[in-house]
Amino acid sequence: MFDTLSDRLTSVLQNLRGKGRLSEADIDATAREIRIALLEADVALPVVRAFIAQVKERAKGAEVSGALNPAQQVVKIVNEELIGILGGETRRLQFAKQPPTVIMLAGLQGSGKTTLAGKLARWLKGQNHAPMLVACDLQRPNAVTQLQVVGERAGVAVFAPEPGNGVGDPVDVARRAIDEAKRAQHDVVIVDTAGRLGVDEELMKQAADIRDAVEPDEILFVVDAMIGQDAVNTAEAFRDGVGFSGVVLTKLDGDARGGAALSVRQVTGQPIMFASNGEKLEDFDAFHPDRMASRILG
Ligand code: GDP
Repeated sequence: MFDTLSDRLTSVLQNLRGKGRLSEADIDATAREIRIALLEADVALPVVRAFIAQVKERAKGAEVSGALNPAQQVVKIVNEELIGILGGETRRLQFAKQPPTVIMLAGLQGSGKTTLAGKLARWLKGQNHAPMLVACDLQRPNAVTQLQVVGERAGVAVFAPEPGNGVGDPVDVARRAIDEAKRAQHDVVIVDTAGRLGVDEELMKQAADIRDAVEPDEILFVVDAMIGQDAVNTAEAFRDGVGFSGVVLTKLDGDARGGAALSVRQVTGQPIMFASNGEKLEDFDAFHPDRMASRILG
């Protein structure tokens, strides 16, 4: 499918063996190849530029060692820098000292929030938590039913507005859900919110109102890895409109190379915490920066 970055750099740097250091020209030639690899992986251009500047700086000082050929050495630097930016180690969920812990999900419609709500609930249940899902996406027809189906599959409780009461007020639903969670001793509450296909001010305000009503311990921004370069604008809009403490990348089972991960992380500074990689509830895992780095580099 793609030439790997390592293959490409090997051909660029094949005459380098025996030199003590990478020259300026070698580094420039290498940077071009890295730039192509990152753009092919759908990393946003400003992020590519910043990243390359960083790698160049490190490559300048690097000596060509005996053990690795220069191409391998540059790939090693790129890989290490990439893992560093992607978060180094996986960040874990912060649980509230006083339960329930409230986790709010935000993201565009279709990003995979409702599916993720079920996955996260199932995963938490497996760790002896007693999660409850809350249907605050009252915008999309069927979203409530979809969450109920997902909840049933995950074997967890779902709090939803009573049918027949019109669209309903998601902020009120969220508030009542927290009371219910306390009463029924659910220690984690996962709040699904509405999202439009594009960023939408009214829904962003709704999400902010829900946030203010439930004071979440974590707000997870859910983003589809397939949206590639658009991830930057979407992430910035959600950062400014609602704010978030962590990121979940979805649809990693698709053929996206994962540039969205690097872009979102670099632009917002928030950690990527989970990866969703399929439609089934068990297609879910903590995010691993090293695996993502290999995927982005090809
Ligand atoms: P929401 O609008 O953000 O709540 O998104 P949904 O959870 O309804 O997901 C939108 C579509 O993407 C559904 O058809 C899901 O089955 C699908 N989906 C969600 N997560 C994944 C994933 O990780 N991989 C794949 N292939 N499909 C997913």
